[in-house]
Amino acid sequence: MLKYQAPQQDMEFLLFDLFQVNREWAEAPAFADLDADLARAVLSEAGKLASAVMAPVNQEGDRVGCRWSDGVVEAPAAFKPAYRQLAEGGWLGLSGSPAHGGQGMPKLLGCLVEEMFWGANTGLYLYGTLSVGAAICIEAHGSDAQKRLYLPKLYSGEWSAAMDLTEPQAGTDLGLLRTRAAPADDGTYRISGSKIFITSGEHDLSQNIVHLVIARVEGAPKGTGGISLFIVPKFIPDENGLPGVRNGVASGAIEHKMGVGGSATNLMNYEDAVGYRVGEENAGLACMFTMMNHERLAVGLQGLGAGELAYQQAAEYAKERLQGRAPGGPQNPDAEADPLLVHPDVRRMLLTIRAYTEGGRAFAMLVGRSLDRAKHSGDPYSQALADLLTPIAKAYLSDRGFESAVLAQQVFGGHGYIKEWGMEQIVRDVRIAPIYEGANGVQALDLIGRKVLRDGGGALRRFVAEMAADEVPKEYGEPLRSAFDRLLGVTDWLVAKAPEDPNLPGAASTDYLELAGLTIYAWLWARMAAAAPDDAFGQAKRRTARFFFQKLLPKAEALTSSIRAGAGAVMDMPEQAF
Ligand SMILES: Cc1cc2nc3c(=O)[nH]c(=O)nc-3n(C[C@H](O)[C@H](O)[C@H](O)COP(=O)(O)OP(=O)(O)OC[C@H]3O[C@@H](n4cnc5c(N)ncnc54)[C@H](O)[C@@H]3O)c2cc1C
Repeated sequence: MLKYQAPQQDMEFLLFDLFQVNREWAEAPAFADLDADLARAVLSEAGKLASAVMAPVNQEGDRVGCRWSDGVVEAPAAFKPAYRQLAEGGWLGLSGSPAHGGQGMPKLLGCLVEEMFWGANTGLYLYGTLSVGAAICIEAHGSDAQKRLYLPKLYSGEWSAAMDLTEPQAGTDLGLLRTRAAPADDGTYRISGSKIFITSGEHDLSQNIVHLVIARVEGAPKGTGGISLFIVPKFIPDENGLPGVRNGVASGAIEHKMGVGGSATNLMNYEDAVGYRVGEENAGLACMFTMMNHERLAVGLQGLGAGELAYQQAAEYAKERLQGRAPGGPQNPDAEADPLLVHPDVRRMLLTIRAYTEGGRAFAMLVGRSLDRAKHSGDPYSQALADLLTPIAKAYLSDRGFESAVLAQQVFGGHGYIKEWGMEQIVRDVRIAPIYEGANGVQALDLIGRKVLRDGGGALRRFVAEMAADEVPKEYGEPLRSAFDRLLGVTDWLVAKAPEDPNLPGAASTDYLELAGLTIYAWLWARMAAAAPDDAFGQAKRRTARFFFQKLLPKAEALTSSIRAGAGAVMDMPEQAF
């Protein structure tokens, strides 16, 4: 059975030793009531929920899956009590606005809690993450009445949410959408059309479902400049804010998928459904991006949670499974064989997962801290930094999560391929993370195009200068300086060359995102090595840092030469040769 234990010690190390949140929180009026004891208690309670309530129904949710019958969708029965505890514990409102029933905790702390929930049960937490994202979107762009009506219900989990963007002909290119919105006399709209792949679009875990739907108002311009955003509730709230009459939105089917079997992925049909506009007409995509940016970080955390879950199983297995002898002679002479852990290649796999997972956890918290600073201090650089880091968080964390899951499955040998052990489920479940919420190739384009080339590399340069100003242990000083120089050098090269070749950014983008991820992780690993305590935990941290610098960071050189090779090798092949 898949077992999950929240990595509380590592999380506390990152909070208090690496990020030194005590100082930061003490200076922020929004976090006046928060201290180390409360943060520890939050982590501990979330960890209990994750390991004792969510994780035990992970494999059953996958096995049973969801059922569709005449528009009604049943989530796995075992999810119901677990969802109720997730909701009733107030976990979906952890970082939500206190003015509307949220708990106002920092996002940096929220990232840790979210990682636990993803790691414990991805299929189940998919019903929660969209409520958090929808609440953030309504809080940023909704009217006061919409905030009063929807936020408390979403934070409490009584109502859940869905994000309705994708249509058969409009995936990455949302400008192609055809769902229509006709203005009604009372200021509402009537929504008609269909969407596909809508996570939690219909299910039986919550009283009501708040769909955030993008559609084109009649006569609006084509493309992304003609998209508006609407709240389309499954049940129209009555005058007391309770679910009233059924709206014209229904599930036409659910998808049969490779993974996340417990999560209902719906084809949604809208027939003159009542929609309430959020934000201005034709400005809907920008509003939707508030939710999408939340979900992008969340999907990165999904990858991270999967990496941690996979590591825990594989490390345990490698200690118990006896096969072969250590290259230097028997380590376990009383038995017929040594444990897998004696083999250098098995250690390579485990340490790779560990370096990416612990580095990724620190990286996700960095994004969370930038979001907190942007929200509470209004500092534009913090927002620019969060914007720069978000596509990296989505893509790098989810790619490394998938890589980690496959490595951990490999540690199990043939048993990793057999359902009973659960490793194949982790691989199937996390495979979606690099695909949805903007495929990772598109994240890489966002990073290179919008976040780097558009400002001539300005925000990136400032961030690198900040990283380079930090003290790090002597052994990492030189490799880290080279890593920064490499990233800055290749960025300058791209800024200079991109205007001459329109294919260059796209040909370089995935390598560039990976290079940025590796470089930032290297800085975080050097800082973690510096902050690590003088005990067994700290020693393991420093050894993992050394593994990262010696075994993983060298990939940066290969990525740099691939970027500098330009677009020719990618674009010269004629179409008919494919
Ligand atoms: C299980 C699941 C759950 C989902 N949940 C939701 C949900 O809740 N709400 C929702 O709205 N959608 C949801 N989706 C849809 C998902 O977000 C899309 O599938 C995804 O964004 C990609 O769109 P697409 O499938 O149409 O692929 P396409 O857009 O056809 O892309 C195919 C490939 O081409 C690449 N590509 C496309 N355009 C470009 C470009 N301009 N430059 C470079 N490369 C490009 C992409 O990176 C991708 O690898 C879900 C999908 C799945 C499978």
